[in-house]
Amino acid sequence: METTNWDYSVFWKEAVKHIRAALSEQEFEMWFKNVRLDSSGKEEIILAVPSSFYRDQLKQRYMSLIRDTLYDLSGQSIEVKFTVRKQQPSSTAPAKHDGNGQGEKQTGTQEEESAEEDRQSSKKKPRISPDSSSRVHPELRPDYTFENFVIGDNNSLAANACIAISKNPGSSYNPCLVYGGVGLGKTHLIQSVGNYVFHEFDKARIVYVTAETFTNEFIQAIQDRKNHQFKNKYRNVDVLLIDDIHFLQDKVQTQEELFHTFNALYDANKQMVFTCDRPVSELKNLTDRLRSRFERGLNVDLQPPNFETRFAILKSKVEEKGLPIDDQVIELICKNINTNVRDLEAALTKLSAYADLLGKRITVDIAKEQLKDVFSNPKQSNINIEMIQRVVADYFNLSAYDLRGKKRTKAIAFPRQIAMYITREITEFSTTEVGLEFGGRDHTTVMHACQRIESRMQTDPTLEPMIQGLIRTIKDYGTKS
Ligand code: ADP
Ligand code: MG
Repeated sequence: METTNWDYSVFWKEAVKHIRAALSEQEFEMWFKNVRLDSSGKEEIILAVPSSFYRDQLKQRYMSLIRDTLYDLSGQSIEVKFTVRKQQPSSTAPAKHDGNGQGEKQTGTQEEESAEEDRQSSKKKPRISPDSSSRVHPELRPDYTFENFVIGDNNSLAANACIAISKNPGSSYNPCLVYGGVGLGKTHLIQSVGNYVFHEFDKARIVYVTAETFTNEFIQAIQDRKNHQFKNKYRNVDVLLIDDIHFLQDKVQTQEELFHTFNALYDANKQMVFTCDRPVSELKNLTDRLRSRFERGLNVDLQPPNFETRFAILKSKVEEKGLPIDDQVIELICKNINTNVRDLEAALTKLSAYADLLGKRITVDIAKEQLKDVFSNPKQSNINIEMIQRVVADYFNLSAYDLRGKKRTKAIAFPRQIAMYITREITEFSTTEVGLEFGGRDHTTVMHACQRIESRMQTDPTLEPMIQGLIRTIKDYGTKS
């Protein structure tokens, strides 16, 4: 008969202290701060973790540490199991203004003990924060660290993958490719890997370059007949970080060189991390063999942050820099800017400059006045409807004229609806204006088209990626022209 109460919470609480002492602060923060005791049963405890990624990493790296610690404390072998906890509603919901900084802290049931730990640990400066070490890697921004990166639903996979890689370069995910739109944190993340490895592994050789610099150096090396030096530089590294590989499209010879660099490093188990502004499958004019190399390993994406994460990011920047900006103002910015983090930061910079000038706190009214242009700006001012029609028509092997014309055959009507939908998505033209540009159609036709596309997207999973691809092409044109 079982009368025992299998409550191991005391042991777990104690174990956490031991584990903390056994690990670096950094390591503990990364892997244990979000682990909670879920429940315990006969000779087993169940730990709740934020994602299956965490679970796998903990199993792989820390299982024996956890087991041994529990054994030492309790004198019996306790089985350790994991459960992935469901995302809880954010505790940093801006309406409440509790200002609980980091995105990671948003999830999970907060037991008293862990809340206490959070409070204690947040007082300590992260070990690799910029001012804690005089060593600075020449190619890396010292403030692009994991500590300064707010983790939310939009980026947690990418961030956790990069953290895992940094702790064990060359062995976990090789290569790793992080992709996502402009201003979503690609450069911040890839450089965080560099900074982490730089500070944790004394002798590691880390090279960070943009694909553009890589290309230019390669061309220069050929001209100067210094191919050998170039090869030496890139093939003798422990960690190679190449940012913005979409730049390599069309650069066949550089692609070739990178292909060989890749193979050399891969065979030697050296870590590679790349970033790209779109999924590799959407890159054009990339050799198949290089594409397949990029697709090897892990490909993770960054999405635009949701409101809560935007709030957490700005809140952390405000606190970090001690800006005289209230939560209500942060909320205002986050409600009005949903594109990317760079745009959010730009709004903050503008306000903080104004606060400096004025020498007083920024009120909501001042913020509204100062940011009115930013808030009302068309999403993409350099894109016109003709450009959209051309790109969409091209894709469907039609002419822009077809899209503006009267024909309503299915082969034309569907692309036309897509073009209208995209126009409404990425420009500020009204439905009336859009109707006029599409052969003088009525604004209700435009509305109807957008609704059709939206509802088709619900049932056809291929439609959205296709439209996103088209939007990227259009924006590419937009920035070139
Ligand atoms: P990308 O390379 O994808 O265009 P960046 O890495 O340059 O974007 O990010 C743009 C700005 O936003 C940087 O200042 C970066 O520090 C900041 N940023 C992006 N994501 C986050 C985040 N999750 N937490 C904190 N800052 C972020
Ligand atoms: Mg970048």
